[in-house]
Amino acid sequence: MSIQVFGQPVSRGIAIGRAVLVASSRVDVAHYFIDAPRVESEVDRLRHARDTVAAELKLLKHEMPTDAPAELPALLDVHLMLLHDDALTGATKNWIQSRHYNAEWALSAQLEVMARQFDEMEDEYLRERKADLEQVVERMLRALSKEEPLVPAAARTNLHAGEDPLVLVANDIAPADMLQFKGSVFTGFVTDVGGKTSHSAIVARSLDIPAVVGAREASRLVRQDDWVVIDGDAGVVVVDPSPIVLEEYRFRQRQSQLERARLHRLRHTPSVTLDGQSVELLANIELPVDAAVALDSGAVGIGLFRSEFLFMNRDGELPTEDEQFEAYRSVVEAMKGLPVTVRTVDIGADKPLDRMSVHELRHDHALNPALGLRAIRWSLSEPAMFRQQLRAILRASAFGKVRVLLPLIAHVSEVRMAREALTRARQQLIDAGVSFNDVELGAMIEVPAAALIMPTILRELDFVSIGTNDLIQYTLAIDRADEAVSHLYDPWHPAVLHLIGRAIADARRAGKHVSICGEMAGDVAFTELLLALGLRSFSMHPSQIAAVKQRVLRVDAERLAGKVGAVVDSEEPEREWKRVLVSSDALRLSEGAARPS
Ligand code: PEP
Ligand code: MG
Repeated sequence: MSIQVFGQPVSRGIAIGRAVLVASSRVDVAHYFIDAPRVESEVDRLRHARDTVAAELKLLKHEMPTDAPAELPALLDVHLMLLHDDALTGATKNWIQSRHYNAEWALSAQLEVMARQFDEMEDEYLRERKADLEQVVERMLRALSKEEPLVPAAARTNLHAGEDPLVLVANDIAPADMLQFKGSVFTGFVTDVGGKTSHSAIVARSLDIPAVVGAREASRLVRQDDWVVIDGDAGVVVVDPSPIVLEEYRFRQRQSQLERARLHRLRHTPSVTLDGQSVELLANIELPVDAAVALDSGAVGIGLFRSEFLFMNRDGELPTEDEQFEAYRSVVEAMKGLPVTVRTVDIGADKPLDRMSVHELRHDHALNPALGLRAIRWSLSEPAMFRQQLRAILRASAFGKVRVLLPLIAHVSEVRMAREALTRARQQLIDAGVSFNDVELGAMIEVPAAALIMPTILRELDFVSIGTNDLIQYTLAIDRADEAVSHLYDPWHPAVLHLIGRAIADARRAGKHVSICGEMAGDVAFTELLLALGLRSFSMHPSQIAAVKQRVLRVDAERLAGKVGAVVDSEEPEREWKRVLVSSDALRLSEGAARPS
């Protein structure tokens, strides 16, 4: 029977596909298709892994000290029994043969099916065997990882993608895991947890595939291989849709693809308002490969390169100066002279360094990580690491126009310390005879304290960029990644709009460049409002640029500017602003009608 689940829409469009359920701890299991002639060898890999684990378990049992508690050898027997159970290996083989999944994927798919069956068991003893099953599967995955995969990594994404499209359903996906989906087989995804501006949602938007987060029960209600519709515009997930509902969504999917193609044609149109104001539309990127997409979308530069993604998935090891330099240089070169704003590493809170789950980080490492040693605080506490990053960025400046952006600034002293670090990094390069160019230094305005002391902070800076995602989180005291409070995450809150308006006005008064790089910049619901507040530079995911440009082209910014003050002061800015837009549209239409043709 068809069921609907509601969550937060985070990446637009409609995806229709069969569900691949993954536990978050196994998200980084490789997912790719095996072509037909290799299916039997893939089954052999699975068999071989099973035999290796069986030998391991037998050896463990054999070497068990005689005084060990009697339960231990019994437990190993249970593991051996599970290992040879046809429900595990037989069914896994089936996923490989019928769906052409690689062995690791097939194994984790079957684990999800069986784990659910265990959960539904009445008998408590049997229910608890789920943990044993998970351990056996982990052992097999480990055994498989030691074997050479049959399909080289480079060829995996080019393989025939089976008959049906696939969507990913998980409880949670850490940002580091999300990165692995770039160019993967999934056409959409759903998670139980997460808010609209959680980092997983942000990476989803950069993948430009329909996604819904915070859909609480989804991973429990969806079964492996179910047909699922993901409506990334409305935040709805339909599980096992009826043929009529499916047809309706297929129709909407085609419409949405046509609309995107139409918008894409705007990419080379200059972004200028009706009253002739030029508006800079920049791109946010996570990895160097994203630069090509940014350019293709018509971005006139990179407004935010989230450099922390270079630091993830490395088992705690940091990237070297040369590695970082190569990454920054490749973006600078790809952008062909357009400006590139590199944000220094913003690690912490919901962006852990390694692929430890977000929840582990939250509970084990800091009482309140969003208020802890993250972003610039971490950089300043690790001066050698910070200077290394600054040197790498400076070296890249020899190849184009580069700006350095500091995250989470709250104190003017943090800007001063960062500037000193930059001066030292410059001196080190001069001493080593390495060339570089001038770089501008800017700060993110994402803590209310920074927005309130703009005139002081601006004296130390060349530019600012407003990070509305964190600014909203810290102004309204709600965790942006926590779906339990996502209804309180309100960009329309008068306090938020006041801070944004004030920051823009202060920067303009001081003659300093100001941009917004939080998700509000790419949300068309705010385009006119931000223009009316005086913003002329927006940075967003490349996929949103055309839609924002379309709005820019239709706005008379000067006329709206006179109306925005009263809206920000009102109790319900969202409603008031809609009224303003409707009446200004009506006015424009009547002026158009009155104009002689
Ligand atoms: C922000 O906080 O608005 C921002 C752009 O930075 P991030 O989303 O990476 O925290
Ligand atoms: Mg931020």
